[in-house]
Amino acid sequence: MILAIDIGGTKLAAGLVGHDGTVAEVRRAATPQGADAETLWRALTDLISPLGVSGVEGVGVGCGGPMTWPDGVVSTLNIPGWRGFPLRARLAARFPGLPVRLHNDAICLAVAEHWRGAGRGYGDMLGMVVSTGVGGGLILNGRLVHGRTGNAGHIGHVVVEPEGGPRCGCGGHGCLEAVARGPALAMWALEQGWTPGAASASGGAALPGGATTLVSVGVEDRAVTARGLAADARAGGPVAVRAMRRAGRALGIAIASTTHLCDLDLVTIGGGLSQAGEPLFGPLEEALREHARMEFARRVKVLPAALGQESCLIGAAALLLAGDAYWPT
Ligand SMILES: [Zn+2]
Repeated sequence: MILAIDIGGTKLAAGLVGHDGTVAEVRRAATPQGADAETLWRALTDLISPLGVSGVEGVGVGCGGPMTWPDGVVSTLNIPGWRGFPLRARLAARFPGLPVRLHNDAICLAVAEHWRGAGRGYGDMLGMVVSTGVGGGLILNGRLVHGRTGNAGHIGHVVVEPEGGPRCGCGGHGCLEAVARGPALAMWALEQGWTPGAASASGGAALPGGATTLVSVGVEDRAVTARGLAADARAGGPVAVRAMRRAGRALGIAIASTTHLCDLDLVTIGGGLSQAGEPLFGPLEEALREHARMEFARRVKVLPAALGQESCLIGAAALLLAGDAYWPT
């Protein structure tokens, strides 16, 4: 059993993950906003404390980047109170004698899909997440590719619109993330006259996750907005459909390049936007087939991620439970 921890800008989660990938005793809490480093640490330890950790063999953590890896000193973008916070060392002191492994949350999502999700049995895959940001993890020959600094797989900063593309948080422009991240896409849709919730409130298709009407969505509520846009696109809202087409084509172009570079079998896509279904995946496939022209690249498949909200916990546990497949020896 592994104590698995998922740390994001809006929520914290912790649970116990068995060797077969099943998750038990999941606890969740909101990430304290505007809190200092020690307040954040207390929120995390308060979350973990009630868990029965007597049989735990190790601690696995998925955390938003950036971070130094494998040291696990985190400066999570959406948690301003943690700048250079030694999260791995603090957890190691809290659980003496147990191994503690920490990786980027997008990497953990990719690992989870490969270990127990849609990528099971595939040798060469890219696991992507399209949400507040666009991230990924690359698995080649059945093993996670880390890179020297742990940053391999950062597909969000592959350039898809070199001429006149939007500014990116990295300082560049035209990156996939600058085009396809939920908030950027929602902003683009609002500029084009999108009324959040209008299409899905008028009898549109329900999302698998439940949310149907998202009338009072504000653009500052990033996760909900991306899901709201996805819901409106599924319901046929014309601006939302165009926004999904914009994101889908950018994703297809980036995936085509990555497929040629890495000889991929499979790409999985998780995160709020992946629930858009055909309005996203149709244009994605179209752009992918336009650009993935080499014979070997035509086999690549793109699938929605199979695991749900516990995916990061499962991937964090797999850092310890899968031998050296996802952690360097
Ligand atoms: Zn960028």
